Amino acid sequence: MSQYDLSRPVLEQVREAADIVAVVGEHLTLRKTGRNYVGLCPFHGEKTGSFNVSREKGTYYCFGCKRGGDVIDFVMEMERVAFAEAVERLADRFGVRLPPASPEARRRKDEQEQLADVMEAAQAVFARQLSQDRPRAFLERRGVPLDVAAEFGLGYARNEWRALYDELRSKFSERALVGAGLVVEGDGGKVWDRFRDRVTIPIRSARSRIIAYGGRALGDENPKYLNSPETSLFSKGHVLFALDRAMRAFSKANRAIVVEGYFDCIALHRVGLTETVATLGTALSEHHAAELARRVPHVVVCFDGDNAGRQAAVAALRTLLAAALEVSVLVLPDGQDPDDVARREGAEGFGRRAAAALPAADFLLELMGSTRQERRRNLLHSLEVVNACPDPVRRFEMRETLARGAGIPLEELGGLESTRMVARQAAVEGLPENAELALLRAFLHDLEPAESAAHLRAFPIDGICHPGVRRVFEVLQRRLAGGGTLEIAGVLSEVDDPGDRRLLAGLELEAPQTPRERIPSLIELVRRRADRLRSSEIVVRIRAAELAGDRDALARLQAEQSELIKRPKRGT
Ligand SMILES: [Zn+2]
Repeated sequence: MSQYDLSRPVLEQVREAADIVAVVGEHLTLRKTGRNYVGLCPFHGEKTGSFNVSREKGTYYCFGCKRGGDVIDFVMEMERVAFAEAVERLADRFGVRLPPASPEARRRKDEQEQLADVMEAAQAVFARQLSQDRPRAFLERRGVPLDVAAEFGLGYARNEWRALYDELRSKFSERALVGAGLVVEGDGGKVWDRFRDRVTIPIRSARSRIIAYGGRALGDENPKYLNSPETSLFSKGHVLFALDRAMRAFSKANRAIVVEGYFDCIALHRVGLTETVATLGTALSEHHAAELARRVPHVVVCFDGDNAGRQAAVAALRTLLAAALEVSVLVLPDGQDPDDVARREGAEGFGRRAAAALPAADFLLELMGSTRQERRRNLLHSLEVVNACPDPVRRFEMRETLARGAGIPLEELGGLESTRMVARQAAVEGLPENAELALLRAFLHDLEPAESAAHLRAFPIDGICHPGVRRVFEVLQRRLAGGGTLEIAGVLSEVDDPGDRRLLAGLELEAPQTPRERIPSLIELVRRRADRLRSSEIVVRIRAAELAGDRDALARLQAEQSELIKRPKRGT
């Protein structure tokens, strides 16, 4: 949370003032080629320059690792700082005076700062208590050396109802302690410590500030793990354990390893795989995937070697593929978790396993069974997982691997899937794979602004399949309606999704250029697809209206249906 007002107009001012060529030029040598600047990508090892910077558009994009964005994204990625920090650094450097935040925003910030203070104070208490016998014995059983425990800040919450409360009450209000989730308030105002007789594990933000705690029972008591509740600092689906430490290893390892548990994560750090993070006992979320996609090109999923672990790995695979990440899976021996294996096999053994992690499609193939017959039965499910990948080339490769493994010719996959996806399949027919990107490129880069605006105002967004492209089209229409321009810097300032930002930054470099006279026919294809999708939706609704006996709705839908059928097919 910044003490400044970082609203959109202010951000546009910062972007306007900051010279992206100068900022990038501090970190690598740029050479001018044509309108762009090119250099060696700082985010992935390379010998030929794939890293492009456009001063005019205020964007950067790497062909190799597909990272891209505007000057703020660059500072965030390069200097590993959060958004507000990146904006403040740029404003400072380019002499933009940031207006102070509103009183409301400042109050929220004060509150968050107090929360952070409470967390740090609790950490001092917990860490000191780790020297007691009970937690010491626990760490010994788990094979966690004291120096590693200290490094991760492990601590102990005493087996008393109000031990922490009594220690902190002189410094903080009861409200602050409850707000931080460290103290629970029951009916009738009685309060007690949330964590009792547990090893405490501080959960830190990407900036290394403690935002929550995990508490591990010493024995087999339930629940085994107890987490802080959601607070204004902490949201479980957003935070990756040990991200602050792993970030330092990302650029060298060029990948992240994701495990499920705290102690799995700590064990892997111990054997030198310091690029490891953990989800906090939740499924890997889109937010987790986005956090990783912002920082690494490749993720290795390493979950437990039992059935539940494998199923969780499949779900994580889909989410990570959808975030345009390259994914592989480290399969562990049946019934073992990463902690067991790391402790038994040490750095060398585990490193060998990590190096042999299976690429996404090979992992799916292994799960599908050992005979072609079994694999065919499970093929559709696996295809659905890899179809989440937005990169057409990688998607094609994975589909090919799956088809080959199941002994089915690649060209028959479409027919096979159509049993499940009739509507979608029919809708896609006739539209070239990258027509959506080609149109977006034409509107943002090639056509005259007035011409783009005219096309865009009546553009049939419903016919766009790619969710990221659709979101961008929505932003464009909204901007036009509000009197905004189609300049890429301005558009970027309204797009938050990291995948969408990359797509925009790489658009001119990656999407095909379409001759001006072909544009209307491409738009027409999208329009027809929108109509087809609408028709199939109407069919379903008509049936529902018939069943419900809703005559008004029925009449309205039938009118719309005949309207759609009559609509002239313009151009081709
Ligand atoms: Zn790169």
